[in-house]
Amino acid sequence: MTIQQKISKIQVKYSSFPDGKWGKNTAKAVADGIGVSYNCFTSLESLNKKIQKKINVKDDGIIGNITCDTLIELSGEKPVIENDGISIATKYLEEFRQTPNISSSKINPIGIVLHHSSGSFVGTVDWCLRSESKVSYHCVINLDGSRVQLAKDNQRAWHAGKSSFKGRSDCNGFMLGLAFSGDTYNRELTQDEINSAVEWILKRLEYYKWPKDLSTITTHRAVSPGRKDDPDKRAEAAILNALRKKLNK
Ligand SMILES: [Zn+2]
Repeated sequence: MTIQQKISKIQVKYSSFPDGKWGKNTAKAVADGIGVSYNCFTSLESLNKKIQKKINVKDDGIIGNITCDTLIELSGEKPVIENDGISIATKYLEEFRQTPNISSSKINPIGIVLHHSSGSFVGTVDWCLRSESKVSYHCVINLDGSRVQLAKDNQRAWHAGKSSFKGRSDCNGFMLGLAFSGDTYNRELTQDEINSAVEWILKRLEYYKWPKDLSTITTHRAVSPGRKDDPDKRAEAAILNALRKKLNK
């Protein structure tokens, strides 16, 4: 695991944005989490030292492998996330960050629309957290499989726009939106993206008792034909094949 991945892992555990960079917000979140006191004049370096002292590693103020490994060890391996009643022990890290881009009405999801966002993972999450974008997905998956859940399953997110599925229009009213970052026409999904999507989808397939033939897992391309083309057919096939493999085990 790279140091960035380790920091991301720590950030998820301490509810800081998982960008893999150790800055003041992350240090504060960790300090709060492990009971280190500081004030607004505390510099990043001295905050780091306080954290290191608390966890009994050399307090040189530099956040390296030993500090990270110790923090990860302390925080335990598998986080359990609460998702609107679904309690899930996840393999991939998942953080909840509420998007403002939801309707007041609630939904009862019957399936999932797959997307790619075109933007980078961090850029996409950031964009979905801004009200002016008027865009949101229920979940965005990073290249390393870590996820940010932006809306609860029963919140109506704004991912599909003008669309229809099995004769029913306006998919936002009854479908979850799951997005990969970037442009899937330019690249294939990573194994971590596939595994993470499968993990996310399978939990819901079981929880909502959606058909095991995957007939309610669709794409933006299919629900908004001619208007949208995401994601690429290769990406769709990779997800469906991986899901079938899991289901047929
Ligand atoms: Zn889309």
